[in-house]
Order: sequence, then structure tokens, then C-alpha cells
Amino acid sequence: MSYDIGEKPGKGTYSDAYGHTVTLDDNDDVLPPCGICGAGQTTKWTRI
Ligand SMILES: [Zn+2]
Repeated sequence: MSYDIGEKPGKGTYSDAYGHTVTLDDNDDVLPPCGICGAGQTTKWTRI
């Protein structure tokens, strides 16, 4: 299952299609744009 930027899927670590990761520390945290791919990309995050 994948999530879009702006969703709140809960605590956890998420990876995009390029293996870049982001960790959400709180259930209210919002998935950000990928820090490496940059804003404006259609990043899909998958929980890992
Ligand atoms: Zn990325």
C-alpha cells in the first residue's frame, strides 16, 4: 500500500521508489515531499 505526500499514515518509516526514506515520529505527522527528489515530485511512500 502506498501513500501520497500530505497523508497521515501514522508512525513509521516510509520509502519512495528510489529507496529514499522518511520517518514519521508522531501519528499526526504528515508525509513530506522527498528530501532528495525534491518538492513538486509525485512521490509515493510505502511503509517499510
Ligand atoms: Zn526520493
